[in-house]
Amino acid sequence: PLASIIGFVETLRGPAKDDERARDEFLKVIAEQAERMSKLINDLLSLSKIEMNAHYIPTSRVDLLRIIRGEKQHFEWACKQKNVTIRLKLNDNLPMTKGEDEELGQVVRNLLGNAIKYTNQDTEVVITAKLTSELPVDNYFRNFSRAICFSVQDQGEGIPKEHIPRLTERFYRVDSARTRKVGGTGLGLAIVKHVLNRHHGALTIDSEVGVGSTFSVYLPVYEDALEHEARQKEYLATQKA
Ligand code: ATP
Ligand code: MG
Repeated sequence: PLASIIGFVETLRGPAKDDERARDEFLKVIAEQAERMSKLINDLLSLSKIEMNAHYIPTSRVDLLRIIRGEKQHFEWACKQKNVTIRLKLNDNLPMTKGEDEELGQVVRNLLGNAIKYTNQDTEVVITAKLTSELPVDNYFRNFSRAICFSVQDQGEGIPKEHIPRLTERFYRVDSARTRKVGGTGLGLAIVKHVLNRHHGALTIDSEVGVGSTFSVYLPVYEDALEHEARQKEYLATQKA
């Protein structure tokens, strides 16, 4: 994008100096490319920040429902453009999980952003959050009995099977007409994956071409830790008494 910005600026200062129509058009391209560059740099910075902390599992408690409701608001305008409705199916009794607010916000934002970007016009995007004992086949979940499952389902063109394992690679994009048209840097899902690694969570992707895709995030529920914490408090209380 930088090369293209420089190129267009040069043209505007030289050959296209007095061409009003070219000016409008080129300025629009410059603005778009600058925006792309800025998003790319922000995404790369986020990734390296998350990687830097990769070995510290977050310890603060987060309320996933609050994060979901907050992020949903950011997409109102984008939804209106495509006449897409977001439907929330949230279990209000979700336990708290451990995590980092801002990073889990990025997970919700990137998945919801994709769903809206890749879903068809006049469709519904469904966000579900529930407690589940159907755990993903993943090392992190070997010692857990329950997880919080957050999923985003769209009615888009779907993703051919062979691409699915590669979607979380940096810069990987399915080369469909639609992907090419809507633009993006291909870092969104890489960020999701890194955040989830750090949280000892997992991502699963189900998709059917022509029907749509569902991206599901699993976060562990720390029953032992919660119990442990409670017991510790009790113990400390008896010690004080
Ligand atoms: P960015 O998120 O950085 O703006 P992006 O959306 O292209 O760009 P990712 O979010 O990492 O990048 O997604 C990678 C690719 O996976 C996309 O380019 C698209 O081809 C495919 N993809 C992701 N989500 C969906 C979806 N809900 N439906 C269909 N394809 C999807
Ligand atoms: Mg994306």
